[in-house]
Parts: sequence; structure tokens; C-alpha cells
Amino acid sequence: MTNVSDPIAKTVQPELEQFMQGLIKRNPGEMEFHQAVREVAESVMPFVMDHAKYRDAQILERMTEPDRIVIFRVTWEDDQGSIRANRAWRVQFSNAIGAYKGGLRFHPTVTLSVLKFLGFEQVFKNSLTGLPMGGAKGGSNFNPRGKSEREVMRFCQSLMVELHRHIGEDTDVPAGDIGVGTREIGFMYGMYKRLENRVAGVLTGKGLTFGGSLVRMEATGYGCVYFCENMLNHRGDSLESKTVAISGSGNVATYAAEKVVQLGGKVVTLADSDGFIHDPAGIDEQKLEFVKELKEVRRGRIQEYTERFASATYHEGKRPWGVACDVALPCATQNELDGDDARTLLAHGVQVVGEGANMPVTPEGIRLLLDGKIFYAPGKAANAGGVAASGLEQSQNALRLSWSRDEVDERLRSIMREIHDKCVEHGNENGFINYQQGANIAGFVKVADAMLAYGVV
Ligand code: NDP
Repeated sequence: MTNVSDPIAKTVQPELEQFMQGLIKRNPGEMEFHQAVREVAESVMPFVMDHAKYRDAQILERMTEPDRIVIFRVTWEDDQGSIRANRAWRVQFSNAIGAYKGGLRFHPTVTLSVLKFLGFEQVFKNSLTGLPMGGAKGGSNFNPRGKSEREVMRFCQSLMVELHRHIGEDTDVPAGDIGVGTREIGFMYGMYKRLENRVAGVLTGKGLTFGGSLVRMEATGYGCVYFCENMLNHRGDSLESKTVAISGSGNVATYAAEKVVQLGGKVVTLADSDGFIHDPAGIDEQKLEFVKELKEVRRGRIQEYTERFASATYHEGKRPWGVACDVALPCATQNELDGDDARTLLAHGVQVVGEGANMPVTPEGIRLLLDGKIFYAPGKAANAGGVAASGLEQSQNALRLSWSRDEVDERLRSIMREIHDKCVEHGNENGFINYQQGANIAGFVKVADAMLAYGVV
């Protein structure tokens, strides 16, 4: 969030409010979308007002209107033979710098507002990776929790019966997100191949035997930790011996934890939507294997961790931010770390907050972290490793090649370093690096310049 005591920010406050009022009027009730746009507009508006070429072309107004939204019904049959209907969306936000790219989310909290916020964020994130990818997001209010594998398969197949018309390797390339992992991508890709009779890099996050990339599964969590390591290195420090609190126990959380452990840090928490576990002895690689099996194979609850490891305690209905740590990595979902959590973390001396999830810190939380002058890494920079590896999967599919684990990991590391450096370049405020400002402006410039080049379209 731009510091409103900054003289440039102060002078554009009326323009910002007028812009936001228009956006809210055009998109009523879409709270998550308003929040995501305000977060970007607060940093970018002073920059736009300072550059006539962006201001006169109404770039911010155009960027906040998705290119296209597809809404459709997904009908499927459950194991009892009852007919069920869900709603699904694909928000194709911007293809200014490349084909649409972004995940699919299956969760009961999915609404158009949530997908518009995620699609908007994705435009900036994909721009930051340096790869030619536009931004999109999709998903459904389908709840995978408690569903059998057959039910999940039938749902994925039915969804693809409609979605296949709207995607393609040069048009729109979906991937996974909450509730959509390798299993669901496999089911959707199987149906896509059947409908289209072609093998193409039209989804990423595929299994390794049919076009997937090594390190894609690990990439978001690993990338987030590489980003935090870059921030600490920037001031001559590292993750070695740091205590790290992580929320979530899904794809992003478990691989973030794995990389922290590999870099010498100590992970003390993991969570799911029911509560969190605190293991002061540290969650090492062996304990993480248990968590992966619990969550990916048995699809159980994190509470089970305490039955296996006596060093841990379970905290029902709570979030992990009350646990003292040097580094906090929110890796579950949006708005999961609020102002009170930020105050508690700061009181405990937190040095780094890296967003593995999308928009996990609330606006008040961000303001407090920035005022506290700690390292705050916004998701569009810190979790861009996932989509970057998806971009690398697309390249391998196009080349009909598979790169080695080390090759993909090295490219991922170097992309995260480059994103970090772009944030430093655009976010330097008299020596303090405002990574939020840096990420928003760096992401904006590339997309805006492409839009200007196309003329008024
Ligand atoms: P997963 O479905 O693998 O895991 C999600 C985790 O978050 C689970 O532990 C889940 O708990 C928990 N969770 C979900 N909803 C809530 C909630 N409302 N309150 C508390 N906890 C919740 O998803 P991912 O790990 O893939 O995604 C996590 C975050 O990272 C999301 O914000 C996603 O958009 C973002 N992200 C993911 C990328 C990827 O490559 N997968 C790329 C970039 C960002 P439970 O088991 O109880 O549901």
C-alpha cells in the first residue's frame, strides 16, 4: 500500500477515489476484486498520473476490465446416482503479453469476485516472470472435500466438456490451484484429448508421464522461499537457523516447508481450514513426508499430525500467527492474516512475511507490515514461481522435450532472482525496499506498454 504521507500519493488521492468509485459501481458486491484492484491502484496511480502516455490512454480503466468471462453449468452424477449442478467460470483477463494463463480453483468459496481478483493479480504476476504469458483464472464452487475419486473424475470430465471450447496452447492454458492438483489436471486433460483428438500443452501441472515438467509441483513453494532468501541476502542475511511459521498444508505450504528445511531453517507450524499444528521441535523432511501422504494420498486432516508426532500440539479453529517466528509464510488462502495477526507477528519480532498464497494478508495487515519496515513480499512476486514453471512446462511441450530437474530448478531460481531485482529497482524508497510498490509498478509497465503498442483495441 502506498504510504499516503508520500507527497505524490497525496496529490493523486482524489483521482484514486474517483477511479475506485467507478470500479465499485461497475462491479457491485465484488469485494475481493475491489480489494485486489485498490491494492494495485494505490501504488500505480501516482506513476500513471506522472506518465501522460498511460494516463491519456486510460490504461488503468482498461486493465481492470477483463477481456472476456465465460460462465457455465457443470452437471454431474454423484455415487448415489443423484444429479448435481455446479457453476464454473473462466475469467480471461488480459492477453496483452501472451496467451491467457492461470489456475483453476475448486472450492465452495469460489465466486466471480474471487476469480476476478485472482485473474487480475495473475496479469501482474505473469508479467513479472518475464515470460510471455497473459493472465486468467477459473474454477468452480464444487467442493472436493469428502468426494470420492470417481465423483471428482466425473466432475472434471463434465467441466472440460464445456471448457475445451475456450482453451488452447496459443489461446488459454489453465493450471491447478486450491482443490486442483495433478489428479484433477489428469482427469481434465484426459477428457480434453478425447474431445479434441490432439496432444497439446493446453494444461500445465500435468503428470510427468504425459507432458508434465519436473519441479512444477514444487515450484510455487520453492519459488516463494527462494524469493524470501533473496530478500534476506539483499541485507547480508539468510534463512539459515530462522524459525518459520507456515499456514496451509497443501501444494504451496508443503513445498515451501521442504525448501525452508533444505536451506537450514526450522518450520514450526502447518495448518488446514480446521486449525493448525505447532511443532517446536521442527517439521523435518521425514515429518513432511508424513504430511504429504496425509494430504495428497489419504486426504486427511492436519490434526492427525499430533497423533503421530508427540512434540506437536493442535490448535482447533486457530491460525498460526500467534507463534513466535522470524519468517511467516501464509500459504493457504486470501485474507488469512489480518491486522491483529500482523501486530502479533511484529510484536514477536517477525522479519519477513512472504505470501505463498494469493492476497493472504489483508490491507490493514499490509499497511502495518510496511510501517514496521520489515520485508513484505506480495504474492504476485513471491508465488510467481508456480506460473513460471508452468511457462517452462509449456516451452518443453512446444519443443517436445523434457528438461532435467536441475535445469528447471536453476531456471526457477534465476526467474525468482530477476523478479526480486525488478522489485528492488522499482520499490526503493530511500533505502527501504517496498516490494509491494516494486512488484506492482514492474508488473504494470510491461503490460501497459504492450497495450499502448496495440493502439485502441
Ligand atoms: P491446495 O488445495 O493444495 O491447499 C490449500 C491449503 O489451504 C489446504 O491446506 C487447505 O485446507 C487450506 N485452505 C483452503 N481454503 C482455506 C480457508 N478458507 N481457510 C483456511 N485454510 C484454507 O492449494 P494450493 O497450495 O495450490 O494453493 C494455496 C494458495 O496458493 C492459494 O491462495 C493459491 O491461489 C495460491 N497459489 C497456488 C499456486 C499453485 O501452483 N498451486 C500458484 C500460485 C499461488 P483444507 O485441506 O482444509 O482445505
